[in-house]
Amino acid sequence: MFSFHRKKSARIALILVPLFMSLLLLFGMMASNLFTAPREQAQAAAPAPNKIVVAQTATPAPMKAAVPKAEPPAVHQLSIVSTPNRNYRAAKSRHIDTIVIHYSSAINVDPARWDDPALVRDIFNRNHVSAHYLIARDGTVYKLVDEQNVAWQAGGSIMPAPDNRKNVNSFSIGIEIIATQKSGFTDAEYASLAQLVNGIRSRSPIRHIVGHDEIGGRRAVNLGLRHDVKPDPGSLFDWSRVPGR
Ligand SMILES: [Zn+2]
Repeated sequence: MFSFHRKKSARIALILVPLFMSLLLLFGMMASNLFTAPREQAQAAAPAPNKIVVAQTATPAPMKAAVPKAEPPAVHQLSIVSTPNRNYRAAKSRHIDTIVIHYSSAINVDPARWDDPALVRDIFNRNHVSAHYLIARDGTVYKLVDEQNVAWQAGGSIMPAPDNRKNVNSFSIGIEIIATQKSGFTDAEYASLAQLVNGIRSRSPIRHIVGHDEIGGRRAVNLGLRHDVKPDPGSLFDWSRVPGR
């Protein structure tokens, strides 16, 4: 019985073992597919984050394209009123390649009339300073000094490195905008400024548009060029609204 069964079980084993082995092989292949498939999927999916990164790096483009936002509204009419200031140095010809942006107000003289352009012009005259242009809160531009003459607006000053030219008055045009350290600037002021800057750029090869604080700040004081640190136009000024900056 034992021997019979041994013979029989040997025959069964002859059939079952290869069957079992092929099943094992089949299962092994399936299993390997099961496990490799997600890996392949993961590999196939791997470029996706790259695509996202590409999309992200592409997004700043519209921001660059948004620069024309600095263009003034078509409806804005630039109004320039000539009100000569007596503080300037006459110059027959000079090379102008820089525009300096400032803010000024009458807040220290008469807080109730802090934004009165007549009072601000008066203060300039009395304090022996000037600028080529003064822009009022309503956008009116007052022309105080002819562009070819040197206005007394920058004081002791030095251009940012690597330029490093001193006496910025001699090669710049100064624009004062009526504002205080806290008032911010009006849309009319920005609109007039943009038109005025474009006009100056059409007349002179402007290469630099700087804030007074960039040329008359701590560095100018440390170099002994001036005593006070200039704060204007300050952090409330929106440089993205200045064409050519
Ligand atoms: Zn200034």
